Amino acid sequence: MTDCLFCKIRDREIPGDIVYENNHVLAFNDINSVAPTHILIIPKEHIPTLNDLEENHTQTMGELFLAAKAIASKEGLSDSGYRTIFNCNEDAQQTVFHIHLHLIGGRKMTWPPG
Ligand code: 5GP
Ligand code: ZN
Repeated sequence: MTDCLFCKIRDREIPGDIVYENNHVLAFNDINSVAPTHILIIPKEHIPTLNDLEENHTQTMGELFLAAKAIASKEGLSDSGYRTIFNCNEDAQQTVFHIHLHLIGGRKMTWPPG
């Protein structure tokens, strides 16, 4: 997908503050951080929204969460806690249409989310 911001970060066409990478996923700091740690974890494959998930994405989705666990540990968040979020479409305020798992931590959060 040539016109996708996160594909361009994946392909190093635009800069990203990359913190983690393996064969399946890439993770980089969010440009507009809402907490001391705010990292976006994306599949290397372009998948626009959660609605586009297929059976063959099962491993990729697991890899996103394994990456979240590893990054949270590296950031020292495993015990204090952290939040993982996928936003899907307008009501959830998805703005970049390449799925991404937000990993947010480093401060006390509230529930329910706004
Ligand atoms: P969404 O609202 O789609 O769930 O989240 C998109 C996220 O991407 C937002 O938190 C936003 O700050 C972040 N973002 C938007 N543009 C860029 C960018 O160019 N670089 C990085 N690193 N993050 C971005
Ligand atoms: Zn993409």
